[in-house]
Amino acid sequence: TMACLTAMDAGAPLGAFVHKTPEIALDQARAADQRLKAGDAPSLCGIPLGIKDLFCTKGVNSQAASGILNGFKPEYESTVTTKLFADGAVMLGKLNMDEFAMGSSNETSVYGPAVNPWKVDERKLTPGGSSGGSAAAVAGDLCLAATGTDTGGSIRQPAAFTGIVGIKPTYGRVSRWGIIAFASSLDQAGPMTKSVRDAAIFLQSMAGHDPKDSTSAEIAVPDFEAALTGDIRGKVIGIPKEYRLDGIPAEIDALWQQGIDMLKDAGAEVREISLPHTKYALPAYYVIAPAEASSNLARYDGVRYGHRAKLAQGDGITEMYEKTRAEGFGKEVQRRIMIGTYVLSAGFYDAYYNRARRVRALIKRDFETVFAEGVDAILTPATPSAAFGLGEMASADPVEMYLNDVFTVTVNLAGLPGVSVPVGLDAKGLPLGLQLIGRPWDEGGLLNHAYVLE
Ligand code: GLN
Repeated sequence: TMACLTAMDAGAPLGAFVHKTPEIALDQARAADQRLKAGDAPSLCGIPLGIKDLFCTKGVNSQAASGILNGFKPEYESTVTTKLFADGAVMLGKLNMDEFAMGSSNETSVYGPAVNPWKVDERKLTPGGSSGGSAAAVAGDLCLAATGTDTGGSIRQPAAFTGIVGIKPTYGRVSRWGIIAFASSLDQAGPMTKSVRDAAIFLQSMAGHDPKDSTSAEIAVPDFEAALTGDIRGKVIGIPKEYRLDGIPAEIDALWQQGIDMLKDAGAEVREISLPHTKYALPAYYVIAPAEASSNLARYDGVRYGHRAKLAQGDGITEMYEKTRAEGFGKEVQRRIMIGTYVLSAGFYDAYYNRARRVRALIKRDFETVFAEGVDAILTPATPSAAFGLGEMASADPVEMYLNDVFTVTVNLAGLPGVSVPVGLDAKGLPLGLQLIGRPWDEGGLLNHAYVLE
């Protein structure tokens, strides 16, 4: 813990930590020492972690990197952090992210971007997003592991951009209680770690049924670490032909082939599969996610949490809402609220929202079909490129940024587990990741495949 607190201070230029909690860390570390001395050694005893700013942590700023939650300190602790602390984990502080987890570069944060510890020239690179602070902190050795959340790729893409492991569990595996909501039917929390084994241990602590989250599943949590045998002989790996996109850099294709070869060498059978509705995933996601966000974010009204605008003489409650929300939310969040409100409006509900929901069902069925045909896991690239420069995409068309999620959003729409594993470097020396997608509730099997690629 002491070493990480020092590293956290020295690592300030990465912009990873946005609220530091050294007193809590030292208290928790001392308590962990006591437990060890008493012969009690829970799985995360004394392990220093960073916590994404999307998790509510009691008495500690929890702002989703948004101005509208300025100064918000919850009275309660999220289920995930409660479980981690019960297993002896130590919180170093809260981690940077895109505002309300909307983005792929950590550039929509009210605190400014986090920076990727990987560097090849003078340019500062993004660690990805929205869990960019988590990725930068783990890759930059400021902490041993971090929590992330993933609505459309926010654990897997930053993991790939920084050369670490990130798993988004099956929807319902990890409680969402106390995690600030973005799109409730897609959001899942998961670990971001330096190795697959760490991911298994960390996920074990986070997972499990929680009566406080009605979408949390009453399904037993198997021993994920025990699943890491490295034996994948006879397993069937699907390679979806629809993921072979035009314009993908040759090195991503080469990495994909490398992953295929590694799994084959380990005794798996690799076959081409088809997921025919893949091309509709991104548009469906960018209807459903903003729709749910517009509803979830309606609660930030200047009355209950955080920021309230200064009002002029004669302003009523409507002005208070309008001014507060105009000041408190950043541009990307406002864009999503407007899109979401539009697609849910009476005249357009069927044309956009209902159609997107139907597409979502078709995407889910594509996966069910290949799993029913015996596929155990699906291998794809995690991202269409390596990390890009800060500022390089932020000013462009927002759709450019949305295209980053092309390989990851299908997994959230279908509620499946997906893991990003660092497999190689590009020609410039930047990390690249591959994604494995698994059957529902088979995080253990999925991590075992990732273990072979690591
Ligand atoms: N980049 C995607 C978005 O902006 C996904 C974000 C996420 O998974 N939280 O919506």
